[in-house]
Amino acid sequence: MMLRSIVRSGLRAQQKWAVAASMSSAQSLAPIVNPQIKQTGIFINNEWHKSVSGKTFATINPATGEEICQIQEGDKADVDLAVKAANEAFRFGSPWRRMDASDRGVLLNRLADLIERDAVYIASLETIDNGKPYSSALAVDVAATVKCLRYYAGWADKNHGKVVPLDGDYISFTRHEPVGVCAQIIPWNFPLLMLGWKIGPALATGNCVIVKPAEQTPLTCLYVAELAKEAGFPPGVVNVIPGYGPTAGAALTYHMDVDKVAFTGSTEIGKLIKKGAGESNLKRVTLELGGKSPNIILNDVNVDQAVENAHFGLFFNMGQCCTAGSRTFIEEGIYEEFVEKSAARAKKRIVGNPFDPKTEQGPQVDEEQLTKILGLIEAGKKEGARLVAGGAREGDKGYFVQPTVFADVQDNMRIAKEEIFGPVQQLIKFKDPKELLERANNTEYGLAAAVFTKDIDKAMYLMQGIRAGTVWINCYNIFGAQAAFGGFKMSGNGRELGEYGLQAYTEVKTVTMKVTEKNS
Ligand code: ADP
Repeated sequence: MMLRSIVRSGLRAQQKWAVAASMSSAQSLAPIVNPQIKQTGIFINNEWHKSVSGKTFATINPATGEEICQIQEGDKADVDLAVKAANEAFRFGSPWRRMDASDRGVLLNRLADLIERDAVYIASLETIDNGKPYSSALAVDVAATVKCLRYYAGWADKNHGKVVPLDGDYISFTRHEPVGVCAQIIPWNFPLLMLGWKIGPALATGNCVIVKPAEQTPLTCLYVAELAKEAGFPPGVVNVIPGYGPTAGAALTYHMDVDKVAFTGSTEIGKLIKKGAGESNLKRVTLELGGKSPNIILNDVNVDQAVENAHFGLFFNMGQCCTAGSRTFIEEGIYEEFVEKSAARAKKRIVGNPFDPKTEQGPQVDEEQLTKILGLIEAGKKEGARLVAGGAREGDKGYFVQPTVFADVQDNMRIAKEEIFGPVQQLIKFKDPKELLERANNTEYGLAAAVFTKDIDKAMYLMQGIRAGTVWINCYNIFGAQAAFGGFKMSGNGRELGEYGLQAYTEVKTVTMKVTEKNS
């Protein structure tokens, strides 16, 4: 299958566009522009349920503003049922707890195979629900999700403890045991991929999960729940509660029988998650939150390449990336050329129907985001930044925003401080490399950063000085299931992906045994 070879070929973000463009012209990978919606319920114990309250909510196609379908609205009563099912599935001696670790890996690989089998359908669902270009949904979101699940399938029987050289006549060793019932609260910017990042390590290490997809984008998560059943996960191991944050999300966060909550979303809600854990049972919390990432471009770069990289680093996924390089610091010598070329590139960006293979930019996810982004664009204009591209809504149907570039942005402007989460690029001039690190770090966030230069000394110096969980050098937005991801400062707690990502889903149990000399 063509997708399989694409997945295997190891996509790198910069190359994905070319791959995606060629893929979507192939007949077998053509999108389903009006996909049939198969799952709209609440998934508990491998069964589909209606909400206890009888309530439903609409999920909207952001390209048109029209309703796709109604979804069962989970709340506390539904969460209680899911938590009971998950705890039963996690009971000591249950089929899931007795399953060989290697067989957990087999199930995860099977789930990856099923997602790959239905890649076109799933990517089409993601596009209609989230608005991202289909080419990207298929070549980035689906492909990377499959890779992530396969990566963690491999870890299932390899995450072992240590033998500890304890003083005295004892043998001591550690076991890495599952945390238990894990609530996983998913954002709307990468609905499928964030699901993969969360369930991959959780299931590999033997936990049971209750996933709450974002209310804007529940469709792919619900479909994957059905695939988890088809793959053979026992009842209660994977549960999905669609619903709103302050109701279903909060019920999970405050639940006394939930052992951990993993959250990806805004810093504001991240604080509420910690509060909820503190006010209930001190459940474990991992958070992947916002960012205002510095992208530093030095004088010695190839300007055309750097402009393209910075453009991709900001505009990818409609700017709806927590890693978006939304403070581009450009050294004085190339600043004007960089501004001119960035504006020209943004003006060329193709905005429109996300199912069209030529489209680079679809709509923002919902009206709330549209309004917030337009408000910040107005703030940029008012505070005196120089608007060199875009600056307004695109059309009047759906939630499209013109690719927007501001030059001469000052550090104290709102657009340089607040996370915009939209297609709005801030170009900032710097003269003094000594001040640069201080300015780059002058943010409450610390998720990602990038440095573009041919000078390895400068690259390494800046890399060391930047306080962020990921630093890219001469590239941007490069991810892999193998490389840990997470934030310094208010960008989060803990790490996802890679070997480090396993720590969030395991407790260390120390076992110490007295050794008695038989002959004494
Ligand atoms: P954004 O502001 O970008 O929409 P959020 O942080 O609000 O992102 O949402 C991310 C996820 O967190 C979604 O699944 C959302 O439903 C959930 N969420 C929102 N509010 C809460 C809350 N009070 N408790 C738990 N989860 C929440």
